[in-house]
Amino acid sequence: ANSVLSSYSTTVFEVMSQLAMEHDAINLGQGFPDEDGPLELRKIAADALIEGPNQYPSMMGLPELRKAIADHDKRFYGISLDWKTEVMVTSGATEALSNCLFGLIEPGDEVVVLEPFYDCYLPLIKRAGGIPVVVRMSAPDWKLPVEELDEALTQDTKLIIINSPMNPTGKAFHWDELEALAELCLRYDIYAVCDEVYEHQIYDGREHYPLITLPGMRDRTVRIGSAGKSFALTGWKVGYICAAPELLAPISKAHQFTTFTTPPNLQKAVAAGLAKDQSYFNNLTADLQKKRDYLASGLAEIGFDVLKSDGTFFITADFSKLYKGGDEKFCHYITTEAKVAAVPVSVFYDVEGPNNLVRFCFSKRIEVLEEALKRLKKAF
Ligand code: PMP
Ligand code: GLN
Repeated sequence: ANSVLSSYSTTVFEVMSQLAMEHDAINLGQGFPDEDGPLELRKIAADALIEGPNQYPSMMGLPELRKAIADHDKRFYGISLDWKTEVMVTSGATEALSNCLFGLIEPGDEVVVLEPFYDCYLPLIKRAGGIPVVVRMSAPDWKLPVEELDEALTQDTKLIIINSPMNPTGKAFHWDELEALAELCLRYDIYAVCDEVYEHQIYDGREHYPLITLPGMRDRTVRIGSAGKSFALTGWKVGYICAAPELLAPISKAHQFTTFTTPPNLQKAVAAGLAKDQSYFNNLTADLQKKRDYLASGLAEIGFDVLKSDGTFFITADFSKLYKGGDEKFCHYITTEAKVAAVPVSVFYDVEGPNNLVRFCFSKRIEVLEEALKRLKKAF
């Protein structure tokens, strides 16, 4: 018998990273920085490995980290959170998303997602018994399709997943779009699960606005973050959830039966990271913006039509002037021939997405991006 999950192939990130390794390609596919985050944080984690704590922490997370998350959210967004009842640490944002879906929906509930979406959303919704309702956004602006959303929402909708800044498009929702989303959530009386893992990867002087801060949204929004992105430590898988106690309680029930906890030494280091001053976060953004601009202009020179990216580690580009054939073939071609790996954008769609877009990860050293561009130039 086939289970919901057996219909899925291996995730594109694993497939492309393996292919990149096999062909000795520069990996601009899977989203991860090629330089580890602050040494100081890694030292705190290393010391904590020697000195402890090394035993199970509280299932909600180390108090030190939960307080740091609450302080961070107050400092950056003015959100007042009770760290005891409104903050929970998870093993990455992926676990956080899974907990939200397993904790908040019942079989038969409808869950609205904006397409293109991050790859774990659909399988998790389905495995949790939810019915995904997909609303498509369109290139090049990826504007919030308010009317289509209004049509998609029904009495059976339980929640909507919002990812801003958004993977794979790099879109960061504008204030008026968030207002429209909040209005819909209130009118249809639904929850919003906000995947904000790229909250500190937003460029061009833009600011990140968590949906939870909009009027009426405080008690119906779940805010998810990830230390992996904020501190360039993606393999640590330390994530967190902030939500009103009535929402966090069922979510924590899902957490207690999945991972229960997250390594305490890593939690300790992330607590120190979140307490870093504004200049750390400013530098992170400035550095990534430079890399984004460098890769974007290099790709444009080669003949790609590069789409605008407001945030994340990613830019997308239309390759149709350079290559005839679908995006999966294109990514296979550049990985094996040019020796530069990327990710086809159609994998972020449920059925038949655009076939002409490729996603590149730019969180790499400039010299690595330079070499990747050189290789791509030679191939076209
Ligand atoms: N959501 C989005 C949009 C992502 O891009 C990622 C990337 N890894 C995740 C969630 C998962 O984050 P984590 O590694 O903390 O599980
Ligand atoms: N979020 C990362 C990306 O979009 C990948 C994470 C993973 O490999 N699961 O590339």
